[in-house]
Amino acid sequence: MTTIAFIGLGNMGAPMAQNLVKNGHNVQVFDLSADAMNQLQQAGATACDSVQKTCENAEVVISMLPAGKHVKSVYMGQEGEQGLLATLPKGTLVIDSSTIAAADAREVAEVACEHGIDFLDAPVSGGTAGAAAGTLTFIVGGDESAFNKAKPILENMGKNIFHAGEHGAGQVAKICNNMLLGILMSGTAEALNLGVKNGLDPKVLSDIMLQSSGRNWTLEVYNPYPDVMENVPSSRGYTGGFMSKLMLKDLNLAMQTAKDTGVELPMGQKATELYDKHSQSHADADFSSIMADYDESVLSK
Ligand code: NAD
Repeated sequence: MTTIAFIGLGNMGAPMAQNLVKNGHNVQVFDLSADAMNQLQQAGATACDSVQKTCENAEVVISMLPAGKHVKSVYMGQEGEQGLLATLPKGTLVIDSSTIAAADAREVAEVACEHGIDFLDAPVSGGTAGAAAGTLTFIVGGDESAFNKAKPILENMGKNIFHAGEHGAGQVAKICNNMLLGILMSGTAEALNLGVKNGLDPKVLSDIMLQSSGRNWTLEVYNPYPDVMENVPSSRGYTGGFMSKLMLKDLNLAMQTAKDTGVELPMGQKATELYDKHSQSHADADFSSIMADYDESVLSK
């Protein structure tokens, strides 16, 4: 049993922390939302009233926060307040699973190294369903020795654990994946809309494309058209998944990385424009709600 501090209990963090509890770890949690903490307390975790208290006696710290600014403020502090890295004991293993810029992950890793703390960027893929089922893919950047220490813990929450390379490499691999996902989701919505507007049933069309060359992850496990699949955000009013504003954040991270490194992203650019427009009215809806930009009627199904 390991004492683990878990910070950030949103759509992803809550089920991930629950899986650590289920696997017998002593889990101490913190979130800005009291509701989120209550839910975890009921699942057997210890709710703490500050980030610092969450980390008392913790051998491992895991964070699952919205964006780079939250991660930097928790670990490096803000407005004169000390961050966690200044107070954690040397040798603590810190795993940040949020999706943030590789440059931000490298910056936090550098400060962690100065304090003798092992830091890993370990963003995930697999969505809320993967988080609940404990089948996430972890894409890890950092030292091999820290990776080997983290692996058995990550295996409580995920099925595939990849060591992508040095600090930041996990985040680079993650944004490559999510840029492709944004392209696939908008392309799938576009194809479904074309079929439906030409008289096809979305379920029949999805079944056909699943057995044809248009097959992709969104059709397999995350169909954007309501009621084609059970237990996906599109069949519950586009709630409880991966918010459109977070997809836009990831696409912007890909665009920024491409700009910094002189790489062209014509399809990524188009997906960013589509999600930028979509997020102006549907920022908190699941990212599969891009379907509504093609067919508004899906919002009332
Ligand atoms: P979310 O908004 O549902 O959860 C974030 C949680 O962090 C919230 O509960 C919020 O209250 C909490 N929080 C914010 N600032 C905090 C602070 N300073 N201290 C403590 N708690 C704080 O987001 P999510 O969907 O769980 O995503 C989290 C991260 O995982 C993001 O970086 C996202 O890009 C990534 N991600 C999400 C999915 C998905 O399907 N939702 C999949 C892969 C990766």
